Amino acid sequence: MNKIHEECGVFGVYSSEVKNLASMTYYALYALQHRGQDSCGIVVNDGGVFTGKKDLGLVGDVFTKEVLASFGPGKIAVGHVRAGVKGSVTHANAQPLVVNHVKGTMALGFNGSLVNKNELRTELELQGSIFHSTADTEVIAYEIIKARLNAPSIERAVTNAMDKLKGAYCIVLMSPTKLIAARDPNGFRPLCYGVTEDGSYVVASESCALDAVGAKLVRDVKPGEVIVFDSMGVRSIEDHCNTAKMSSCIFEFVYNARPDSIVDGYSVHEARVEMGRYLAKKYPVEADVVISVPDSGNDAAIGYAKESGIPYELGFLKNKYVGRTFIFPDQKDREDQVRKKLNPISSVVNGKRVVMVDDSIVRGTTSGRVVKLLREAGATEVHFMVSSPPFLFPCYYGTDVPNKDMLIANQHTLEEIRQMVGVDSLNYLDLEDMKKIALMDGKNGFCYACFNGEYPTETPKSTGNKYETKINIEEYTKRH
Ligand code: SF4
Repeated sequence: MNKIHEECGVFGVYSSEVKNLASMTYYALYALQHRGQDSCGIVVNDGGVFTGKKDLGLVGDVFTKEVLASFGPGKIAVGHVRAGVKGSVTHANAQPLVVNHVKGTMALGFNGSLVNKNELRTELELQGSIFHSTADTEVIAYEIIKARLNAPSIERAVTNAMDKLKGAYCIVLMSPTKLIAARDPNGFRPLCYGVTEDGSYVVASESCALDAVGAKLVRDVKPGEVIVFDSMGVRSIEDHCNTAKMSSCIFEFVYNARPDSIVDGYSVHEARVEMGRYLAKKYPVEADVVISVPDSGNDAAIGYAKESGIPYELGFLKNKYVGRTFIFPDQKDREDQVRKKLNPISSVVNGKRVVMVDDSIVRGTTSGRVVKLLREAGATEVHFMVSSPPFLFPCYYGTDVPNKDMLIANQHTLEEIRQMVGVDSLNYLDLEDMKKIALMDGKNGFCYACFNGEYPTETPKSTGNKYETKINIEEYTKRH
């Protein structure tokens, strides 16, 4: 749907007894599929023997009954789903990555994006490392291996390697005897752990994966924390905690995370409903019905309807079996794909003044196409409410917010966008209102960089990757 997409989901399990962890990981990855649909993988560890399978495709396609049956039982397992940017969807980039080194084997999965990946990679290559992929995971693996040579344990190696990693990362790592989870000091991406009734520990990008395997959420992994699960139980290493300001990605609450997840103590659904309520308070309109662009606009549309008193109805039927639009390379394909994926329910919108709620506008082409469908179905007015502020800057932390040339709000005024999308009115959630919602409990800090250009860390220095176009924030601010 020409939407922003998250780039990965991670999962790990440490069981007190040997059992079928491949199917447990499969269910968890199924629940995390929204975080990445290009490749997936599972590695199971039975007494230090690693058995793995990774491939391009959806979890349900890669892990058929036969493939799952080919895994033996184990005590530890890790799993991964990935969405790659254009050109990076390769088998080599699929995860978990399994690495054999002098101190033993490890398998790791990663979510996020390192801002100093190119520098680290160059340094490693000059020292003799040979890379097989373009994934940050491989850089992290080499840094851990290097640190392991002088560290007394794998968890200490992970902790020491974190001294060199900058940016956003959640790591789930399996050694022959341990499961280790680590979250960057800013806490950009979510990571939590839970426990099942039989005492197995599970770690996942989102709590919805814990729910899927019957585990109870214990807590979020703290920014900067390394947690070790092994035969001694659970241990926490907090060397990197409180070394940076917490900067949890606000866009997880707008779009990335599933609404049934709890992220850093917040209900994603409740946050989205609140975003819709704020839109209704600030931008009331005379209308007959509130609808959402499914599924990402659903919760905010409910909030808008609750606050405004305008009834919420199902305005579109979404065909969930059609692939995502951005995998179709040219514009014509993308437009056809919108029609295949969304069909307006004409009895809901025909002859009506419609409030349409969606989570964001990236390039604007999809939104324009969706509005056209509503007009064709007989909507007399379309008032477009967007439950996030305009995207003005790229994301360097693992969400695929593209560079400024691709962002309609960076290139056009509100009125121009309104005309281009073809709606009667257009309103975005104000950044200040988003901050009020995010800071309701006053505990957490958030990243809003794709909306305000205030990056919580240094930004990538080198070129040659998707960050080639650097933003001159001062120049931008003057222009707008
Ligand atoms: Fe999230 Fe935007 Fe910050 Fe990226 S820049 S971490 S998408 S808030």
